[in-house]
Amino acid sequence: MRIKITMLMLLLSASTHSSWADSNEVNLYSARKEALIKPLLDEFTRETGIKVNLVTGKASALLKRLVTEGRNTPADLFITTDAGRLHRAREAGVLQPVSSQQLNSVVPANLRDADGYWYGLSQRARPIFYVRGKVDPQQLSTYEALADSQWKGRICIRSSGNIYNQSLVASMIANIGEMKTEAWAKAFVANFARPPKGGDKDQIKAAVAGLCDIAIANTYYVAKMLTGKDQDLKKAAEAVAVFWPNQQDRGTHINVSGIGMTSAAKNRENAIKLMQSLVSEKAQQWYAEANQEYPVREGIPESPTLQSWGEFKSDGVELSKLGELNADAVRLMDRAGWK
Ligand code: FE
Repeated sequence: MRIKITMLMLLLSASTHSSWADSNEVNLYSARKEALIKPLLDEFTRETGIKVNLVTGKASALLKRLVTEGRNTPADLFITTDAGRLHRAREAGVLQPVSSQQLNSVVPANLRDADGYWYGLSQRARPIFYVRGKVDPQQLSTYEALADSQWKGRICIRSSGNIYNQSLVASMIANIGEMKTEAWAKAFVANFARPPKGGDKDQIKAAVAGLCDIAIANTYYVAKMLTGKDQDLKKAAEAVAVFWPNQQDRGTHINVSGIGMTSAAKNRENAIKLMQSLVSEKAQQWYAEANQEYPVREGIPESPTLQSWGEFKSDGVELSKLGELNADAVRLMDRAGWK
């Protein structure tokens, strides 16, 4: 009798385990919050009958988990933000290349890995936000010009440990070279109103509170402040205006959230189907709007808030370059005294 029970338990555990690699499922690790992605996955399941098992977590924790689990990871797909992080995942060996004509034709070349290790799903820009009435936008022009002494003690930006700033600096290295970027960074840091602290929203709040006149922040933070329920955040966001830097040359720095297939993926076909579904017209519109981001797919309307900020020219540098230059950017920021 005891033997029979053990056998039964073994069978049961084997069947639960194999459900992760069942042909009618796909397993996704996502560094984005469940609410920002779940409705899309449910829609995918309704349309294809493929069940999506979703695990959400912090970007660095999920990457660590993928590395630790190695070949045994149940994950078929990994979603995270910032090309710097996506590139890190590729470097860590947890992704495999995907070759899909559909993905390649929908996702612009600069917003995906050239070898197919990851694809952008949404775009965000990192422009300048200035306090209305305190800064004449005529005084603003480029990221480079923020090194000018007229901005002494007037700039708020988060720390150099943050991937968004690392990618911004990497984009400058890619565009103007390391020497010019380093000289810029030193003068830029000297203009900080305070030692960097907090996230992007905190920079906007600090500016509105009078601690600085200019803040650098990702677009979706400010758009969410404007459209969210928190009245204080809304007021703060209303007190600033966006300025798109570098419109006369390379364009404003942008980045993506993106997806890649894990090197240990067992449900490859389902995974590719889900990737393709996430860049469909319907998914692109919902995903971009829910996150207050810009779609990667052409011809998809932006959220009303983003539309109100107008069109802008974005830096067309290949985002995978920013990943390649990440270590250089980190060292440069350190030398420049960017805390
Ligand atoms: Fe963010």
